[in-house]
Amino acid sequence: MQLVFATNNQNKIKEVQSLIPSHIQLLSLEDIGCEEDIPETQDTIEGNAIQKATYIKTNYGYDCFADDTGLEVAALNGEPGVFSARYAGEQRDADDNMDLLLKRLKNETHRAAQFKTVIALQIQNKLDTFTGICQGAITEHKKGDKGFGYDPIFQAKGYDSTFAEISLEEKNRIGHRGKAVKQLISYLKTL
Ligand code: IMP
Repeated sequence: MQLVFATNNQNKIKEVQSLIPSHIQLLSLEDIGCEEDIPETQDTIEGNAIQKATYIKTNYGYDCFADDTGLEVAALNGEPGVFSARYAGEQRDADDNMDLLLKRLKNETHRAAQFKTVIALQIQNKLDTFTGICQGAITEHKKGDKGFGYDPIFQAKGYDSTFAEISLEEKNRIGHRGKAVKQLISYLKTL
């Protein structure tokens, strides 16, 4: 079965490929010749995931899934949320985003946060969504050099290490995307 994962983020492809059954051939946007920026203009994480999956199905004809992820910080009323990628500006720079978040949380003791991933799947002319949440907290400083995005400042509940300090296998096991992907895989097995 061929299925497009609507992303150009090689880290994500690696993460998902390691979880998905081998009879499913995962295609990237590059594999299907999609070079344009896919619109992400909705004001919710779920809305953006649906928009991306629908765009690929409509314009390229492939069955497809797309994910959208946001980091929701309780003390900031859920910010950066749907704006996580461009929190510090359109340059979408991970270090700038983390620096801004750490600055906004300076002297804040309530540092609870959660990652939320929504996967939208367009398959056999049906749309489904799967949500994975990982609860944790924002650290005081960046730690670790694994992973990507906000990983160096996010510590999952019950952990002393950030997502940038644990292995990919461990992150997949407890992380937001891993949880959403597991639901996606269970669903794909029923088809
Ligand atoms: P997107 O939905 O993948 O575009 O992600 C939105 C923002 O969240 C980007 O800034 C990503 O770097 C960040 N992000 C997404 N997934 C993760 C993750 O697993 N760890 C850390 N940051 C992430």
